[in-house]
Amino acid sequence: MSRSGARLARESVTIAHMVRLYCRRHHGRALCADCRQLTDYAQERLKRCPFQDGKTTCARCPVHCYRPEMRERVRTVMRYAGPRMIYHHPYLALRHLLDGRRKRPVRSSVREV
Ligand SMILES: [Zn+2]
Repeated sequence: MSRSGARLARESVTIAHMVRLYCRRHHGRALCADCRQLTDYAQERLKRCPFQDGKTTCARCPVHCYRPEMRERVRTVMRYAGPRMIYHHPYLALRHLLDGRRKRPVRSSVREV
C-alpha cells in the first residue's frame, strides 16, 4: 500500500512548477491569470483522478480526463517545461521519470465528471 496522498501531492507540486517555468519564460510573469487557471484545472483533475496514488504520469495515463482545450495547453507547457525540470527541480524531475515507469494502473472506480 502506498502512503496515502504522497504520490498525488508530488504530482501536484510538479505540475505547478512546470506551469510556473513556462509562464515566466513565455508570459514574463510569475504566474499569469491564464496559467493560474491551468494550474487550478490540473490540480482539480488530480484530485478527481480515479487512480489516485496508483496513477502513472498523466502523459501515460489511459484515461483522458482533460478537456481538449486544457489538454492542448498542458501539453504545450509540458513540452517546454518537461526537459527543463531537471535543471530547476532535479529531485521532482527524477521522481516524475520513475513514476512514469510504473505499470499501467488498474482503475478501482470510475468517477466521471
Ligand atoms: Zn502565463
